[in-house]
Amino acid sequence: MNVLVINCGSSSLKFQLIDAESEKVMAKGICERIGIDGQFTYQPAGGEKEKSAKPMPTHTEAIQYVLEALTNDKTGVVSSLDEIGAVGHRMVHGGEKFASSVVITEEVKKAVEECNELAPLHNPANLIGVEACEKLMPGTPMVGVFDTAFHQTMPARAYMYGLPYEYYEKYKVRRYGFHGTSHSFVSKRAAEVMEKPYDQLKTIVCHLGNGASVTAVLNGKSVDTSMGLTPLEGLVMGTRSGDIDPAIMEFIAHKEGLDIDGMMKVLNKDSGVYGISGGLSSDFRDLTDASLAGDKKAQTAMEVFSYRVAKYIGAYAAAMNGVDDIVFTAGIGENDDIVRSQVCSYLGYLGVEFDEEKNKGLRGKEEELSKPGSKVRVFVIPTNEELAIARETMALVK
Ligand code: ADP
Repeated sequence: MNVLVINCGSSSLKFQLIDAESEKVMAKGICERIGIDGQFTYQPAGGEKEKSAKPMPTHTEAIQYVLEALTNDKTGVVSSLDEIGAVGHRMVHGGEKFASSVVITEEVKKAVEECNELAPLHNPANLIGVEACEKLMPGTPMVGVFDTAFHQTMPARAYMYGLPYEYYEKYKVRRYGFHGTSHSFVSKRAAEVMEKPYDQLKTIVCHLGNGASVTAVLNGKSVDTSMGLTPLEGLVMGTRSGDIDPAIMEFIAHKEGLDIDGMMKVLNKDSGVYGISGGLSSDFRDLTDASLAGDKKAQTAMEVFSYRVAKYIGAYAAAMNGVDDIVFTAGIGENDDIVRSQVCSYLGYLGVEFDEEKNKGLRGKEEELSKPGSKVRVFVIPTNEELAIARETMALVK
């Protein structure tokens, strides 16, 4: 079955058509600047990448271009839309309503809409993507795969904040966590690589991308994760602060004359390694170059980042009373050997024997980075959220 995977943002739409049986990507691309001027990028497997300006006032036109490109004589990879068996949508926030993926119905859409408040930038865009597909592919089953679903197994002691209980009751203020599709995918893969039963492992997954989170996976279930009600909590990220003393908000707001929106912009867009490096960059390639050239702020930014990851690993080892394997994934986790080495330099006490030689220069490849006999095994496992969505979609639709 061919599954069209859609990841819809407020002004962009990423897509992949995946043969869910062979798990091969047939074509992929991205529609950008939707509602502005429209930019369409498309690449069939083994073919050239094409970029063109296309008017896209709404997501419906964007999906129209996607379907046209997938089916036309020149660039197409299927002869008609009938060959697309289902659509899998990445959905950001399922609140407490969705603990697993679901076939999308009118009821499901309503329930997702009720979660909009929890993800005002993402959820409405996800729903627009669903509705645009429904319009253009009537009758094709759609599945929603939620970033938050994997973490719904967390116990109350991990998801409750130290706040008045009524905020949980009235507003559902609690930890939800994100990147669940990725944490689930790579923790499962680690079990396969180790040839151990997934439901008998203590795994810590470090999803380190622009947005970054760590998850404790105990016996195949998420039991704690570093992101919270929103993706702002936890690790120091590209431009997000992660954990801070909440009183800093008031202190800086007074000093700088900022209101709550201004303060949220500082924490979401001006902070993280970008902020610590004095506005140099949020990209670890730039920070690495600057660090190696002796830039002190860039060095500090990378050290703060790695130290925070190591602290979360320590916390989650405690939460699970041990750890069998630690997995690095996403842009930084898969590619940045300096960060991986810095993080693992804190983990000797757990019994991690890190192989610096294997780590050096390793990019984007599945590999074990612990030495033979290491008490805790360390891996790089590339994440593949699109493939995970395609698998879930096929499983539900079949
Ligand atoms: P997201 O999906 O959250 O946007 P990604 O998982 O794609 O993020 O990660 C993007 C980040 O990965 C970049 O901002 C950069 O910091 C880092 N990155 C990508 N390639 C490399 C590399 N070769 N070396 C170091 N860091 C890299």
